[in-house]
Amino acid sequence: VASKETKPEPTVVQIRDLKIGGSHVGVIAGPCSVESEEQILQVARQVKAAGATGLRGGAFKPRTSPYSFQGMKEEGLKLLALAREETGLAVVTEVMTPEHVDMLCQYADVLQIGARNMQNYHLLQAVGETRTPVLLKRGPSASIEEFLLAAEYILDQGNQQVMLCERGVRTFETHTRFTLPLATVPYLHERTHLPVVIDPSHGTGIASLVPPMCAAAIAAGCDGLILEVHPDPSRAMSDGAQSLTPEVFADTMETCRKVAAAI
Ligand code: PEP
Ligand code: MN
Repeated sequence: VASKETKPEPTVVQIRDLKIGGSHVGVIAGPCSVESEEQILQVARQVKAAGATGLRGGAFKPRTSPYSFQGMKEEGLKLLALAREETGLAVVTEVMTPEHVDMLCQYADVLQIGARNMQNYHLLQAVGETRTPVLLKRGPSASIEEFLLAAEYILDQGNQQVMLCERGVRTFETHTRFTLPLATVPYLHERTHLPVVIDPSHGTGIASLVPPMCAAAIAAGCDGLILEVHPDPSRAMSDGAQSLTPEVFADTMETCRKVAAAI
């Protein structure tokens, strides 16, 4: 169903002002985790002012260690909805289990499937049964073939609003958190009509590398970016090292606009 042979024209996912696919490039920005009302409202205003049309923020966090902050859960979802009310940004947030899908749909505009859950087939089917758009992240050790087949699990249930997100894969390399393969963008565009979103935050793990990788992803033809932005990255409860300040995010948006105009 994801193949271009089935449907040659690009799929465009549109929710509020967030448009991703075809000739539209959408930017989703916000903190790794929702931490407080003040934090999420502040960053939502800042990323909106810089031109983002989507707000990211994790309320249910899939942390590597069970002892790390696990997210604000439903309280965090309520704060995301509050930020949407004020800014109009489309809310993108992760769903970790099929039992939570209905609850998440009450608050989210886009359901994010995290990298760790790319092959959680019951979860894929559960989000496939909804008509809420899905951002499917590539598993860090998944082949492109496995990634596309994971998307089929969602499409097969009737939900056609699927975005594919490259967020880096695990390699022998250690200078970055993951290795971010940008060839994924043109390759997937040859294979599928589904939009391709790049996550340079998790893809590099290092804030200074994020702006140039955003520019490169735009140059490669991506349909969207998802970026971690925190009002004070040094105090972030998760992923501070890869989070941009709102100021750097605004500069990055400016550079991306120039690259987009040049290609
Ligand atoms: C996230 O977006 O904060 C996240 C946990 O991403 P990933 O699933 O790609 O690791
Ligand atoms: Mn994160």
